[in-house]
Amino acid sequence: METLVLVIESSEAQSRYIKDSINRELGLTCLVAKDLGKLKQILTMHQSGESFIAVSNLVLPDAPSGEAVEYCRKRGIPTLILTSTFDPEVRTHILAKDVVDYVIKTGDAIPQITTLIQRMIKNRGIGVLICDDSLVFRKEQRRLLELLQFKVYEANDGVQGLAMVELHKDIKLVLTDLQMPNMDGMALTVELRRQYSKKELAIIGLSATGDAHTAARFIKSGANDFLPKPFIQEEFNLRVMQNVEILQQIAELYKMAHCDFLTDLFNRRHFFGKAQEILNKKANSAQISLAMFDIDHFKRVNDTYGHDTGDQVLKVFARILDEVCSPHGLVARLGGGGVFGTF
Ligand SMILES: [Mg+2]
Repeated sequence: METLVLVIESSEAQSRYIKDSINRELGLTCLVAKDLGKLKQILTMHQSGESFIAVSNLVLPDAPSGEAVEYCRKRGIPTLILTSTFDPEVRTHILAKDVVDYVIKTGDAIPQITTLIQRMIKNRGIGVLICDDSLVFRKEQRRLLELLQFKVYEANDGVQGLAMVELHKDIKLVLTDLQMPNMDGMALTVELRRQYSKKELAIIGLSATGDAHTAARFIKSGANDFLPKPFIQEEFNLRVMQNVEILQQIAELYKMAHCDFLTDLFNRRHFFGKAQEILNKKANSAQISLAMFDIDHFKRVNDTYGHDTGDQVLKVFARILDEVCSPHGLVARLGGGGVFGTF
């Protein structure tokens, strides 16, 4: 589903600048509304099948008290607020409107906006588990996580939490309360960390009753971070986003080290490491097959049609091999030419 960005801003120069930046940096289409009337018109024309993210000024000529933000909220459109002033009262007033976050109009406002929008779009594919025996805290955390566009799961205790992580492979972050029946947050953290490394799953411990040692105990048990309850929206958002960001950076580094840059298949290094693991596991049992594919006279393709075409051939060949073989085994690109292996 394509995401459209609504830029709700009365200053034409500013809205054009925001629109051009989002379009250039993220490749997303922006629709500009200079006031509430125009916003209503746009949303009437785009009713089905599109997903929106809004960047809105709080004050508009025909909506001086945040009515445009309210209008977006009622339609379930996640909204970032642009504001020129910052004081605690404005901050509380803004965040009470169920918005994702606010950005102050300073020099780096645009990079902040594009980063947030990019993060929100990525978050749609990431599951977060809230493990807490308090319904009130679960509801509050769900509200904030859904504003950030995460897919949210809930568990009432550690036992349920473990089962949820096992069942839903898209869960990449667990927020766990300390005190829960059956299995508490500390025991859950230890058990999760036994099964999932820090490159697979991030854990944030939360507690309302913990003493000064609770944060250290959580982190020593394998948590990535700790957040005392009650928390404010901004700190919650920052810690959640930061942990998800780190997880994704680790995944990108892992990919760079283990994948072939051209075909996206695993590289030679990964293949030989994994192949040894598979051999060790299956040494005395099942049959093992190994196939090597070499595209004959591949140099001729490069010489006749150029290297760009040669690269396209390798990409297509790799994709077909991946589709056919990866569900059953391991596929990798072993050499520089057209040599692939499957295990
Ligand atoms: Mg509790």
